[in-house]
Amino acid sequence: MKIEKIKSTSGKATFIVRGIDFSFANALRRSVSEIPVLAVDTVEFYKNDSALYDEFLAHRLGLVPLKAPKTFTLRSKCTCKGKGCLKCTASFKLKAKGSKTVYTSELKGRGAEIALKEIPIVLLEKDQELELSAEAILETAKEHAKFSTGLTWFNALPEITIKGCDACGKCIEICPKGVIKLKDKGITINSLNCDMCEACVDLCKDLKDAISMKPSETDFLFNIESFGQLEPKKIFSESVKALDANLKTLTKAVK
Ligand SMILES: [Zn+2]
Repeated sequence: MKIEKIKSTSGKATFIVRGIDFSFANALRRSVSEIPVLAVDTVEFYKNDSALYDEFLAHRLGLVPLKAPKTFTLRSKCTCKGKGCLKCTASFKLKAKGSKTVYTSELKGRGAEIALKEIPIVLLEKDQELELSAEAILETAKEHAKFSTGLTWFNALPEITIKGCDACGKCIEICPKGVIKLKDKGITINSLNCDMCEACVDLCKDLKDAISMKPSETDFLFNIESFGQLEPKKIFSESVKALDANLKTLTKAVK
């Protein structure tokens, strides 16, 4: 297996994984849902004069990306045996009065960091008040989608063959992605941005029949877009760890 970085920022990473097959690529993608992520799980409202129901606000709070300390553990595996303690539960308080928009930066608490502080929670009119306390726990996206760490998707890289091209350039005009370029006495296709619509293949069929393409069976382009809790690189390495742990459990069960 070989990994090639295409681009990487704190929010998104794109890279090629070579030398695997479709099921292994999909196993890596699915294992992302096994990474523990911190999210608000219970909310207690003391005052809510806003136009939104308590349930609506609680749902919004559940989607606020939170960064858990490294020492945090799943509540089910904690020494407190699920009661909730400093090692497995982060708590927040929010107290606001209108008129204004309440942002995630107004959540004050201990045990965790708000990853994105400019998410609007609710709009309060003049003299409207909001007061609540919330508890956040670590869980995986298998339990609930709010514990998702981001979006992960992949596609097979196109394998493109160009033979007998006379550089007529007609395929350049028809390509909706603009990935075909004239080079020397032929064309080149940027396979990273090609989505295999095959418009060029269909057009060329009646001319020179010079272009053919098929999805690779071994090379895949991965994209990871983080919701803010973990860096994309960390998401990938954690998904590999989760897959490894599952395989070890399976091996043990088979034995
Ligand atoms: Zn605990």
